[in-house]
Amino acid sequence: MGLLTKGSPLTWAETIPHIEYIKKHGIKQFINLYHRLKSRHGDQLKWGDEIEYTIIKFDHENKKVRVSCRAEELLNRLQAEEQVNAMLGTANRFLWRPEFGAYMIEGTPGMPYGGLIACFNIVEANMKLRREVVKKLLKKDETCLSISFPSLGVPGFTFPDVPADKTNDDAANSIFWPEQAVFLGHPRFKNLTKNIKGRRGSKVAINVPIFKDTNTPSPYVEDLSAFGGPDDTRDAKPDHIYMDHMGFGMGCCCLQVTFQAVNVDEARWLYDQLTPITPILLALSAATPIFRGKLSNVDSRWDIISASVDDRTLEERGLEPLKNSKWVIDKSRYDSTDCYIYPCSVGYNDIPLQYDETIYQQLIDGNIDEPLAKHIAHMFIRDPHQVFRERIEQDDEKSSEHFETIQSSNWMNMRFKPPPPDAPEIGWRVEFRPTEVQLTDFENAAYCCFVVLLTRMIISFRLTYLMPISMVTENMKRAQQIDAVLSQKFLFRKGLAECKSAPENLKGSEKCGPPSQDIEEMSIDEIINGKKNGFPGLISLIRQFLDSADVDVDTRCTISQYLNFISKRATGEISTLAHWTREFVQSHPAYKHDSDVNDTIVYDLMKKMDAISSGEDHCDKLLGCYRSKTDHAISAAVRKAEEHMIVSSQKRAH
Ligand code: ADP
Ligand code: MG
Ligand code: MG
Repeated sequence: MGLLTKGSPLTWAETIPHIEYIKKHGIKQFINLYHRLKSRHGDQLKWGDEIEYTIIKFDHENKKVRVSCRAEELLNRLQAEEQVNAMLGTANRFLWRPEFGAYMIEGTPGMPYGGLIACFNIVEANMKLRREVVKKLLKKDETCLSISFPSLGVPGFTFPDVPADKTNDDAANSIFWPEQAVFLGHPRFKNLTKNIKGRRGSKVAINVPIFKDTNTPSPYVEDLSAFGGPDDTRDAKPDHIYMDHMGFGMGCCCLQVTFQAVNVDEARWLYDQLTPITPILLALSAATPIFRGKLSNVDSRWDIISASVDDRTLEERGLEPLKNSKWVIDKSRYDSTDCYIYPCSVGYNDIPLQYDETIYQQLIDGNIDEPLAKHIAHMFIRDPHQVFRERIEQDDEKSSEHFETIQSSNWMNMRFKPPPPDAPEIGWRVEFRPTEVQLTDFENAAYCCFVVLLTRMIISFRLTYLMPISMVTENMKRAQQIDAVLSQKFLFRKGLAECKSAPENLKGSEKCGPPSQDIEEMSIDEIINGKKNGFPGLISLIRQFLDSADVDVDTRCTISQYLNFISKRATGEISTLAHWTREFVQSHPAYKHDSDVNDTIVYDLMKKMDAISSGEDHCDKLLGCYRSKTDHAISAAVRKAEEHMIVSSQKRAH
């Protein structure tokens, strides 16, 4: 998660005098980096996933499950392999990184996947092996699940059991969340928590609407007196599940995919084209209906994370007249992007952007074009939360750390990633960030491959998906509703339109306008599977792309399984994890239809999830019927054949 720099972190009060300096130099670093690398061209597609896992501990005797706060110990062991590989010069199979929770670990492939279509066949095998490797290090009563734990913040939710301490400033004075549930092996996480609270001026307030079941009191007002007094709970709203710590959001698990573009233009164009697709994937992957042990009225974590890192002051939130703050800001720093960044997309930028004129001017004077300058300046309305005493003075020609400090704590649905200054092998990249992590490796592989195939299809057909960007914000809201896949309609482009200004055709002149008449409301099924006499559906477009590519039999079979699965999720024939979880809870004998998901239900739920994710149980309702042909490596023959095809088609094209 983000930048893991070492040093002595500053408190919020110590950070304030350095904010302007850091922003000015962060911008300078970006300008230097941009000009040094803007003409970098011809990078291949490379891509990789990031999966976050929760380590869980069963107490079989008391039928209780907790999160096991052993991430630091496990990471030390997992990362030891990286050191051995570095010494031997052998390749890493995976990389392991810390995440916010003391019970979380993040795994990525050891090296990014390459541009061969055959790579799609090794993704799931890598994910499986990753899980096995973690499980080998676990104790008998522990397991590793790629889910957001439903009982975060309930009394005794951690192992070892450490009660929350509302007098502890290091734990942001939460009445639910102990400091020890934050990953303390790196100062970043605790420091972010404290500084977000410091900047905001109070602890964060997360209120998720409660799901009103037949026996849920109405209005629903939880008695929180056992946790704290009126001052500690004053932000709790009736009819909501109240939470008060960054961990409730950042302690949820996510699934992200990063891919490299051929050059900066393609990265910017893809960033824009994928932005309207983010809400669709959020709805399709919905997996998080329970918060603090209660059924909520939403199906995903997005708004919860958003509120969990909301560092805006009262003035910025529009709750007090502006006096010390510069702007009213509509969104938290974790939210959907407010602007497209490719020059020809600006006609669709209909959200007013706040930015500091001086910073914007610094970018323009540094020869950054207007759309990119606006995007960067708008990100820089956020203050840095992670400043290290030893690292304030930097060589702006060589470092991009101040830039990254702000960029990596603007957690948006998409991220435009410039190449790092010190890694010549890495090019301009884009990260796709909305997807909810799935229970099984098959599903995670399916979603990742689907997103990467979308990028291939979009690039190869040069189609445009742009719509006024405020509609994307609206779609993100709809995507989180219960069973959004079936219950909601999404604003989407009606037909197929070629993007005349796509990077290859780009002459810089043609701007796309905002053709609101080209947008209509469609169901996820129509967007994914197509509509009669209308939009052909993303899957059929991907299939057309695959037909034009040379794909070996096994890979084609695996991809086909993934596409069928996504297609059925879109029709509702296969449930989302959120839907399946709701059904599980509602049919459990210990559930009293009062929205409370007690320890016994969570215990049985986790046991079931563990059995499904390990393949011991098969659940048709959640996964359908599939047989993927995933394998650990691409065979030499397939690699040679595919490379040969690519060379011949390039020759034909010349
Ligand atoms: P973060 O999103 O936390 O900044 P990283 O950028 O370190 O994470 O890695 C995210 C993913 O990007 C990983 O899956 C990794 O395999 C992948 N990746 C690494 N190098 C490249 C590259 N050159 N192009 C595309 N993806 C890459
Ligand atoms: Mg992460
Ligand atoms: Mg990431």
